[in-house]
Amino acid sequence: MALLQIHQFPCLSDNYGFLIHERLSGLTAAIDTPDAKAIHRELKRKGWRLTHILNTHHHPDHAGGNLWLKERTGCVIVGPGADAARIPGIDLQVGEGETLEFGSAEAMIYDTPGHTTGHIVYYFPYEDAAFVGDTLFSMGCGRLFEGSPGQMWDSLQKLMSWPGRTRIYCAHEYTQTNGRFALTVEPDNQALIKRMEEVKRLRDEGRPTVPTTMYQEKRTNPFLRPDSTEIRVRLGMEDADDVDVFAEVRKRKDRF
Ligand SMILES: [Zn+2]
Repeated sequence: MALLQIHQFPCLSDNYGFLIHERLSGLTAAIDTPDAKAIHRELKRKGWRLTHILNTHHHPDHAGGNLWLKERTGCVIVGPGADAARIPGIDLQVGEGETLEFGSAEAMIYDTPGHTTGHIVYYFPYEDAAFVGDTLFSMGCGRLFEGSPGQMWDSLQKLMSWPGRTRIYCAHEYTQTNGRFALTVEPDNQALIKRMEEVKRLRDEGRPTVPTTMYQEKRTNPFLRPDSTEIRVRLGMEDADDVDVFAEVRKRKDRF
């Protein structure tokens, strides 16, 4: 049986909140704090006591609820050491290559600069689950507010080393818009066409498209597919380096 229970709920306009609960120790963490009151309500509903906040990056829809929740629960706030000054209430700084013990569960930390300079992600290898903040979305990736395309491409390649079965918990429900863009650069990708049908059905039923899996993303996400011949031909970049194809796809998405 999985050690971690993962509770996902929508909040703000298109964010997802996540609570993780480790059964043996009773530890409970919020992955980021998009909406403190919504998190507080969900904790009550589950009967869980908040012991940790695991921040991915400093943006207000990720760390904005930190202090409110810390004041009420005394929880420990874990976040990127590289960006400690911008994480409200941070207690424990973590970074690339470190392991975070969470009761009997264990998260590996990866630095994933690009969306912000200090972004990190939490990968629970024994749970096949990863909390990726705004680094990777289903069929998309985070905007490059603070980093270069090269940094982001390096970050995404780290995530691509995970097994296909890894469940990817992204922080936003952007999937349908992302997929519409993906079809403009790879319209003949059959896996993408099929995924978009599934996404439409889920959204019509008011259901989330998150989590996705690494397997699914490698087949459908144009930001993970700079080696796709179809994308390269469409962009007129048959002989370009992967990073340059990635940068061009990102640029086109920004204008989409
Ligand atoms: Zn963000």
